[in-house]
Amino acid sequence: MAIQALKGFKDILPGESEKWVFMEETARRIFRTFGFSEIRTPVLEKTDLFVRSIGTSTDIVEKEMYTLIDRSGDSITLRPEATASVMRAFIEHNLQGQQPIHKLFSIGPMFRHERPQKGRLRQFHQINAEYIGTNSPFADAELIYLLMQILDHLGLLEIRLRLNSLGCPLCRPSFNSALQGFLGERQSELCPDCQRRMSTNPLRVFDCKVERCQELLTAAPTITDFVCRACQEHFEQVQKLISGLSIPIHRDPRLVRGLDYYTRTTFEISASHLGSQDAVAGGGRYDGLIRQLGGADMPAIGFAIGLERMALLLSSQEEWINRPFVFLIPLGAAAREKAFSLLTILYKKEIPAMMDYEDKSLKSQLKRADKVKSRFAAILGTEELNKDRILIRNLDTQSQEAIPIPQFLDYFLERYLK
Ligand SMILES: [Zn+2]
Ligand SMILES: [Zn+2]
Repeated sequence: MAIQALKGFKDILPGESEKWVFMEETARRIFRTFGFSEIRTPVLEKTDLFVRSIGTSTDIVEKEMYTLIDRSGDSITLRPEATASVMRAFIEHNLQGQQPIHKLFSIGPMFRHERPQKGRLRQFHQINAEYIGTNSPFADAELIYLLMQILDHLGLLEIRLRLNSLGCPLCRPSFNSALQGFLGERQSELCPDCQRRMSTNPLRVFDCKVERCQELLTAAPTITDFVCRACQEHFEQVQKLISGLSIPIHRDPRLVRGLDYYTRTTFEISASHLGSQDAVAGGGRYDGLIRQLGGADMPAIGFAIGLERMALLLSSQEEWINRPFVFLIPLGAAAREKAFSLLTILYKKEIPAMMDYEDKSLKSQLKRADKVKSRFAAILGTEELNKDRILIRNLDTQSQEAIPIPQFLDYFLERYLK
């Protein structure tokens, strides 16, 4: 039997991969406009890195990490998210000493050993941004604007920005204890997961998918009533700036993120086509993370875009097919040699072209040109060759004309660049 891919791992095939290139190229272009540079880190890291940054009582570290012991007995983990690796590299190469502000992005695969279900893969892909060195609310607004610009250029409509503040180490403990008190009174009604979260990481109960838990939580205290003055002012300024950019805000005091390192501004973007649980992007501040990992005391904010979900939102496969512009159809050996030289001229000018080398009839070659959805067919028979001409057929309109071969390149340059 032929070997198949691992469960939860997916191939991205031609017709679909073009969509991925489009997403990545669009993001790269917009990152450049906003002054972001790409950083590429390895997919494997020491397990400790993720335990220390993401937090021991998160779902990721508790049950989703791809952790293995290598041949030298070290515990290593395939990265479940990007921020920890980027921060590790940032500290290790002392980027912090070189400039006060850093704008970094990365694109690549992440790995989580989740139960495979619809739309949840064990290898999934993200675009990540990290804006390091400023705690200004302007940076929060700029980063969210950057995210919206990327989604806008990808053609995503009907998106919703949910926004919350998670407070800071000064004010979150009082909220945590109020929440713990509230949950304690209802302990027996909570699901087993939430009963456990109650003591280890109470904020995480808001992410519970169990309906009964969600019902109980409608009456729970929210972080909004507990944030300190500085967090409050920061959050108000962020909202004012974002509103000034004409981006509608949905304040959601129950929005928490599945990682321990978030502080203050937290956000998610959901698209109405996907269910409410399915955010296409999300992020927030993590002002304490760099210091926690042994670096300087530098604030930072970032986001991640889920590319699998993003791809679902882009239009159907058809228009992503990599179409040739010209399909060359030689008839006979002499014509094939001439057509081959014309093909390489098109390649050199980066005009997408295609040609088969088998001795097939005009009809069967035209069929191929149709099948690969070429815009034009360029037909070269013995008669044309003798007259130094070539027959051009527009496959969209079926109109046809003969042109002198010396004009071949100019003919397509003019049409392709339009
Ligand atoms: Zn605070
Ligand atoms: Zn629950």
